Amino acid sequence: MLKRAFFVIFFIVISLNSGYAKEKVFIDNWDIQQYRGQLGQWKLIGSKKILRYYAKKYKVTLSRISKLKGGRLLNEEYVFIPFSKEYLKELAAKGIKRNFVYKSKSEYIWPVEGIDRITSAFGMRWGTFHNGVDLPKRKGTPVIAAMDGKVISASYSGGYGNSIYVECRNNFYTRYSHNSVMLVKKGDYIRKGQIIAFLGSTGNSTGNHLHFEIRYKNIPLNPLDFLPPKKELYYGNKNIGKK
Ligand SMILES: [Zn+2]
Repeated sequence: MLKRAFFVIFFIVISLNSGYAKEKVFIDNWDIQQYRGQLGQWKLIGSKKILRYYAKKYKVTLSRISKLKGGRLLNEEYVFIPFSKEYLKELAAKGIKRNFVYKSKSEYIWPVEGIDRITSAFGMRWGTFHNGVDLPKRKGTPVIAAMDGKVISASYSGGYGNSIYVECRNNFYTRYSHNSVMLVKKGDYIRKGQIIAFLGSTGNSTGNHLHFEIRYKNIPLNPLDFLPPKKELYYGNKNIGKK
Protein backbone atom coordinates (compact mmCIF):
# COMPACT_ATOMS: atom_id res chain seq x y z
CA MET A 1 0.00 0.00 0.00
CA LEU A 2 2.73 2.41 1.01
CA LYS A 3 4.70 1.42 -2.03
CA ARG A 4 1.72 2.18 -4.24
CA ALA A 5 1.16 5.60 -2.63
CA PHE A 6 4.80 6.38 -3.19
CA PHE A 7 4.49 5.41 -6.83
CA VAL A 8 1.46 7.68 -7.29
CA ILE A 9 3.26 10.65 -5.71
CA PHE A 10 6.32 9.93 -7.81
CA PHE A 11 4.15 9.91 -10.93
CA ILE A 12 2.52 13.24 -10.02
CA VAL A 13 5.91 14.87 -9.48
CA ILE A 14 7.13 13.59 -12.84
CA SER A 15 3.96 14.85 -14.55
CA LEU A 16 4.36 18.33 -13.09
CA ASN A 17 8.00 18.53 -14.03
CA SER A 18 7.44 17.44 -17.59
CA GLY A 19 4.77 20.11 -17.90
CA TYR A 20 1.69 17.97 -18.42
CA ALA A 21 -0.28 19.90 -15.83
CA LYS A 22 -2.31 22.49 -17.71
CA GLU A 23 -2.90 26.00 -16.41
CA LYS A 24 -5.41 28.60 -17.50
CA VAL A 25 -3.67 31.31 -19.51
CA PHE A 26 -5.62 34.54 -19.93
CA ILE A 27 -5.00 36.49 -23.12
CA ASP A 28 -5.22 40.27 -22.89
CA ASN A 29 -7.49 42.04 -25.35
CA TRP A 30 -8.43 45.67 -25.98
CA ASP A 31 -11.10 45.53 -23.24
CA ILE A 32 -9.26 43.96 -20.33
CA GLN A 33 -5.54 43.79 -19.72
CA GLN A 34 -3.35 42.79 -16.83
CA TYR A 35 -0.39 44.47 -15.17
CA ARG A 36 1.27 43.62 -11.85
CA GLY A 37 -1.57 41.27 -10.97
CA GLN A 38 -4.31 43.83 -11.56
CA LEU A 39 -6.92 44.05 -14.29
CA GLY A 40 -7.45 47.25 -16.21
CA GLN A 41 -6.39 49.03 -19.37
CA TRP A 42 -3.29 50.73 -20.78
CA LYS A 43 -4.15 54.31 -21.74
CA LEU A 44 -2.13 57.01 -23.42
CA ILE A 45 -2.26 59.84 -20.94
CA GLY A 46 -1.43 63.33 -22.18
CA SER A 47 -2.57 65.36 -19.22
CA LYS A 48 -3.88 65.23 -15.65
CA LYS A 49 -7.32 66.00 -17.03
CA ILE A 50 -7.37 62.84 -19.14
CA LEU A 51 -6.07 60.83 -16.18
CA ARG A 52 -8.91 62.14 -14.00
CA TYR A 53 -11.40 61.30 -16.74
CA TYR A 54 -10.31 57.63 -16.79
CA ALA A 55 -10.14 57.44 -13.00
CA LYS A 56 -13.78 58.51 -12.90
CA LYS A 57 -14.82 56.20 -15.73
CA TYR A 58 -13.20 53.12 -14.19
CA LYS A 59 -14.16 54.12 -10.65
CA VAL A 60 -10.62 54.05 -9.32
CA THR A 61 -8.68 56.53 -7.17
CA LEU A 62 -5.77 58.56 -8.53
CA SER A 63 -3.57 57.32 -5.69
CA ARG A 64 -4.14 53.70 -6.70
CA ILE A 65 -3.12 54.55 -10.27
CA SER A 66 0.05 56.38 -9.25
CA LYS A 67 0.97 53.71 -6.71
CA LEU A 68 0.76 51.04 -9.38
CA LYS A 69 2.72 53.18 -11.83
CA GLY A 70 5.47 54.15 -9.42
CA GLY A 71 6.98 57.51 -10.29
CA ARG A 72 5.75 60.76 -11.71
CA LEU A 73 3.38 61.09 -14.63
CA LEU A 74 5.15 62.25 -17.77
CA ASN A 75 3.45 63.82 -20.74
CA GLU A 76 2.23 61.45 -23.46
CA GLU A 77 2.89 58.17 -21.80
CA TYR A 78 1.03 54.90 -21.38
CA VAL A 79 -0.35 54.46 -17.89
CA PHE A 80 -2.10 51.37 -16.60
CA ILE A 81 -5.52 52.25 -15.21
CA PRO A 82 -6.73 49.46 -12.91
CA PHE A 83 -10.47 48.77 -12.89
CA SER A 84 -12.43 48.88 -9.66
CA LYS A 85 -14.28 45.70 -8.63
CA GLU A 86 -17.48 47.55 -9.39
CA TYR A 87 -16.40 48.34 -12.95
CA LEU A 88 -15.23 44.75 -13.51
CA LYS A 89 -18.69 43.57 -12.45
CA GLU A 90 -20.27 45.93 -14.97
CA LEU A 91 -18.05 44.49 -17.71
CA ALA A 92 -18.84 40.92 -16.67
CA ALA A 93 -22.56 41.73 -16.82
CA LYS A 94 -22.04 42.84 -20.44
CA GLY A 95 -20.18 39.61 -21.15
CA ILE A 96 -16.85 41.43 -21.60
CA LYS A 97 -13.98 39.27 -20.39
CA ARG A 98 -10.61 37.93 -21.38
CA ASN A 99 -10.26 34.79 -23.48
CA PHE A 100 -8.21 31.96 -22.12
CA VAL A 101 -6.42 28.87 -23.31
CA TYR A 102 -5.15 25.85 -21.42
CA LYS A 103 -1.40 25.44 -21.68
CA SER A 104 1.23 23.62 -19.71
CA LYS A 105 3.70 25.81 -17.82
CA SER A 106 6.45 25.06 -20.32
CA GLU A 107 4.39 25.80 -23.44
CA TYR A 108 4.94 29.06 -25.27
CA ILE A 109 2.24 31.09 -26.99
CA TRP A 110 2.69 33.31 -30.07
CA PRO A 111 3.81 36.80 -28.97
CA VAL A 112 1.76 38.39 -31.79
CA GLU A 113 -1.72 37.15 -32.63
CA GLY A 114 -2.75 36.27 -36.17
CA ILE A 115 0.72 35.70 -37.62
CA ASP A 116 0.61 33.83 -40.94
CA ARG A 117 4.05 34.74 -42.28
CA ILE A 118 7.54 35.50 -41.10
CA THR A 119 9.87 37.96 -42.81
CA SER A 120 13.11 36.50 -41.50
CA ALA A 121 13.86 33.02 -40.21
CA PHE A 122 16.27 31.89 -37.50
CA GLY A 123 19.77 31.21 -38.82
CA MET A 124 22.30 32.64 -41.25
CA ARG A 125 21.22 35.63 -43.33
CA TRP A 126 23.35 38.08 -45.28
CA GLY A 127 26.48 36.61 -43.75
CA THR A 128 25.42 37.08 -40.13
CA PHE A 129 23.47 34.95 -37.71
CA HIS A 130 19.87 35.97 -37.12
CA ASN A 131 19.16 35.06 -33.50
CA GLY A 132 15.39 35.03 -33.70
CA VAL A 133 12.36 35.12 -35.92
CA ASP A 134 10.77 38.25 -37.43
CA LEU A 135 6.99 38.54 -37.11
CA PRO A 136 5.48 41.33 -39.24
CA LYS A 137 2.35 43.22 -38.18
CA ARG A 138 1.06 46.77 -38.14
CA LYS A 139 2.64 49.35 -35.84
CA GLY A 140 0.81 49.40 -32.52
CA THR A 141 -0.24 45.73 -32.58
CA PRO A 142 -0.09 44.31 -29.05
CA VAL A 143 2.99 42.26 -28.22
CA ILE A 144 2.06 39.66 -25.64
CA ALA A 145 4.30 37.66 -23.32
CA ALA A 146 4.98 34.25 -24.84
CA MET A 147 6.04 32.88 -21.45
CA ASP A 148 5.95 33.90 -17.79
CA GLY A 149 9.09 35.53 -16.47
CA LYS A 150 10.92 38.42 -14.89
CA VAL A 151 11.90 41.48 -16.94
CA ILE A 152 15.70 41.72 -16.89
CA SER A 153 15.79 44.83 -19.06
CA ALA A 154 13.37 47.04 -20.93
CA SER A 155 15.30 49.76 -22.69
CA TYR A 156 16.52 51.12 -26.00
CA SER A 157 19.45 48.91 -26.91
CA GLY A 158 21.20 49.68 -30.21
CA GLY A 159 20.07 47.63 -33.18
CA TYR A 160 17.34 45.95 -31.12
CA GLY A 161 15.59 49.29 -30.60
CA ASN A 162 13.10 49.25 -27.73
CA SER A 163 13.84 45.80 -26.44
CA ILE A 164 12.50 43.69 -23.59
CA TYR A 165 14.60 40.85 -22.23
CA VAL A 166 12.89 38.36 -19.94
CA GLU A 167 14.21 35.59 -17.72
CA CYS A 168 11.84 32.61 -17.80
CA ARG A 169 11.90 29.26 -15.99
CA ASN A 170 14.75 26.77 -16.16
CA ASN A 171 17.35 29.13 -17.67
CA PHE A 172 15.22 30.07 -20.65
CA TYR A 173 15.08 33.69 -21.83
CA THR A 174 12.88 35.56 -24.28
CA ARG A 175 13.54 38.81 -26.15
CA TYR A 176 11.02 41.14 -27.81
CA SER A 177 12.60 43.82 -30.00
CA HIS A 178 11.87 46.86 -32.24
CA ASN A 179 8.80 47.83 -30.17
CA SER A 180 7.27 51.27 -30.66
CA VAL A 181 6.17 51.39 -27.00
CA MET A 182 7.28 49.30 -24.02
CA LEU A 183 4.74 48.86 -21.22
CA VAL A 184 6.76 46.90 -18.69
CA LYS A 185 9.77 47.86 -16.61
CA LYS A 186 12.89 46.12 -15.38
CA GLY A 187 11.98 43.97 -12.37
CA ASP A 188 8.35 43.38 -13.40
CA TYR A 189 7.04 39.84 -13.31
CA ILE A 190 5.06 39.20 -16.45
CA ARG A 191 2.42 36.58 -17.16
CA LYS A 192 1.99 34.60 -20.34
CA GLY A 193 -0.74 36.33 -22.38
CA GLN A 194 -0.14 39.79 -20.91
CA ILE A 195 0.40 42.79 -23.23
CA ILE A 196 3.98 43.97 -22.67
CA ALA A 197 4.55 46.29 -25.64
CA PHE A 198 3.23 47.66 -28.90
CA LEU A 199 4.90 46.50 -32.08
CA GLY A 200 7.08 48.89 -34.06
CA SER A 201 10.23 49.42 -36.07
CA THR A 202 12.74 51.00 -33.66
CA GLY A 203 16.47 50.26 -33.90
CA ASN A 204 17.98 48.48 -36.89
CA SER A 205 14.75 47.58 -38.67
CA THR A 206 13.36 48.11 -42.16
CA GLY A 207 9.66 47.71 -41.34
CA ASN A 208 7.21 47.09 -38.54
CA HIS A 209 7.82 43.70 -37.01
CA LEU A 210 8.60 41.93 -33.76
CA HIS A 211 12.01 40.32 -33.53
CA PHE A 212 11.42 37.46 -31.10
CA GLU A 213 14.10 35.29 -29.51
CA ILE A 214 14.12 32.27 -27.24
CA ARG A 215 17.42 31.48 -25.56
CA TYR A 216 18.63 28.70 -23.31
CA LYS A 217 21.22 30.35 -21.07
CA ASN A 218 22.83 32.50 -23.75
CA ILE A 219 22.31 30.12 -26.65
CA PRO A 220 19.74 31.31 -29.19
CA LEU A 221 17.27 28.62 -30.24
CA ASN A 222 14.80 28.58 -33.11
CA PRO A 223 11.55 30.04 -31.70
CA LEU A 224 9.52 28.09 -34.28
CA ASP A 225 10.58 24.89 -32.49
CA PHE A 226 8.80 26.16 -29.35
CA LEU A 227 5.79 28.11 -30.61
CA PRO A 228 2.55 26.23 -31.27
CA PRO A 229 2.68 24.85 -34.84
CA LYS A 230 0.62 26.53 -37.54
CA LYS A 231 -0.65 24.83 -40.71
CA GLU A 232 -0.08 27.97 -42.75
CA LEU A 233 3.04 29.97 -42.10
CA TYR A 234 4.64 31.62 -45.09
CA TYR A 235 8.26 32.56 -45.53
CA GLY A 236 8.42 34.25 -48.92
CA ASN A 237 6.24 32.13 -51.19
CA LYS A 238 6.89 28.96 -49.26
CA ASN A 239 4.55 27.49 -46.66
CA ILE A 240 6.84 26.36 -43.85
CA GLY A 241 3.87 25.50 -41.60
CA LYS A 242 3.58 22.07 -40.01
CA LYS A 243 0.83 19.82 -41.34
ZN1 LIG B 1 15.06 39.89 -36.42
